[in-house]
Amino acid sequence: MTHRPSETAAPLLPNLAPGGWRLDDSYARLPALFFTDVEPTPVRAPRWVKLNRALAGELGLEADALEDEAGAAIFAGNRLPPGARPVAQAYAGHQFGHFTGLGDGRAILLGEQITPRGERFDVQLKGSGPTPYSRRGDGRAALGPMLREYIISEAMHALGIPTTRSLAVVATGEPVYRERELPGAVLTRVAASHIRVGTFQWAAATRDEAALRALVDYTIRRHYPDLAGAENPARALLEAVIERQARLIAQWMLVGFIHGVMNTDNMAISGETIDYGPCAFMDAYDPETVFSSIDRHGRYAYGNQPAIAQWNLARFAETLLPLIAVEEERAIEMAKVALGKFAERYREQWLDGMRRKLGLFGAEPDDGALIESLLEWMQKTKADYTNTFADLARELPAECAQRDDAEFMQWHARWRERLARQRESGEESDRLRGESCPAFVPRNHLVEAALAAAEQGDVSVMERLLEVLAKPYDHAREAPEYRQPAGDAGAGYRTFCGT
Ligand code: AMP
Ligand code: MG
Repeated sequence: MTHRPSETAAPLLPNLAPGGWRLDDSYARLPALFFTDVEPTPVRAPRWVKLNRALAGELGLEADALEDEAGAAIFAGNRLPPGARPVAQAYAGHQFGHFTGLGDGRAILLGEQITPRGERFDVQLKGSGPTPYSRRGDGRAALGPMLREYIISEAMHALGIPTTRSLAVVATGEPVYRERELPGAVLTRVAASHIRVGTFQWAAATRDEAALRALVDYTIRRHYPDLAGAENPARALLEAVIERQARLIAQWMLVGFIHGVMNTDNMAISGETIDYGPCAFMDAYDPETVFSSIDRHGRYAYGNQPAIAQWNLARFAETLLPLIAVEEERAIEMAKVALGKFAERYREQWLDGMRRKLGLFGAEPDDGALIESLLEWMQKTKADYTNTFADLARELPAECAQRDDAEFMQWHARWRERLARQRESGEESDRLRGESCPAFVPRNHLVEAALAAAEQGDVSVMERLLEVLAKPYDHAREAPEYRQPAGDAGAGYRTFCGT
């Protein structure tokens, strides 16, 4: 198929406006079924809680000019930034396996900021008031969950994992009512885009093939420009998304991240981690770990994430079938081949990542077994996932915390032998481990403490935490209180959907 120019292609980049804004609206030039025009609902008393100055800079926004009353009004949804064209995006999704029509029920896309380097990022307000997709929701968000998204998304970014980011949190001066009355807030989320598996499901459900094709073309242009000339664009897109997701999920697994609500509407086609609701980092290693209070059957447990990603990708593939081949049988065959690659690619990415965590260069046939036996030991002894690897990364053998554990020491000797067989020096291996094993992840109890203080008006606890999490591989930092798991106190830890 030849690449046809589409009406979604911006003829010219928008002009630079005061404050550094340069907003485009290419998504809103897609067929009308993909969005509804809707403005944020003003709030009573916008007040700055947090501006991400580094991210503002990367976006070309002038942090100093933004961090005042007028800026708070923008990030509360009381005033639109120059060039904004606010829309709520439409999508569908499988939520815990059940298909539903959804859409931004409490989020509004202001536009796409074009950065000084020419990149394009969605700027979206979350908690900005009701939209036609709000169903019975109030369109609002509480301060705690919005700061939680801020902390964890920024930690993921610092860990080197593709993710949406958090530009601002502004308190609304209005209460929101959940189980109790909570302070309201608006988060500004920055994303490569908010196109989800669920966006494709929405297009497929309407059976509007022209719209689906427009979405495929748009997504390729925006996220996979190398595929522009592909013979079979839909199939090429499917393969590319599978590849990025295999990589992303491997990265989650390597740091012990549990997304918590991997519904198809929460899987971004860009390959970024999106939608920080009940997510959390695992302390003691156990594949069955679940934190989310709504995930009663452990569908989204740590160890299930690769299989769930593949399930979601199968739903994505289904939406593309009519474009992959005219004959359905043939389309299904091609989609199956593409989906079959997921497990393989995931395993490769995961194994490579585990080798790096253990400072192993090259590949030996027994590497998988070596890694698995460490994990088995960790599960049996309820060892802390992050600290076990961080200790191995920093380790002096004599100081090894587990030296009294015969099974561990046996494993340790095997590992040492494997290290001794490689040509690379000890320093090279040390360096590889140091940059692959985080010393600091957002521990649940630390995040909760930061949120509790912030709700009382004290953001200093969060600021210190953010500073530590900004350099997760800084093994030299003396900050033992940021390394410790919650211990037994954390055993029953529960996270709640960010409502
Ligand atoms: P999530 O589970 O956070 O991905 O949200 C699922 C859907 O519920 C999305 O369409 C959200 O926009 C919507 N939603 C969540 N909370 C609210 C709320 N307070 N008001 C309106 N819609 C909401
Ligand atoms: Mg969502």
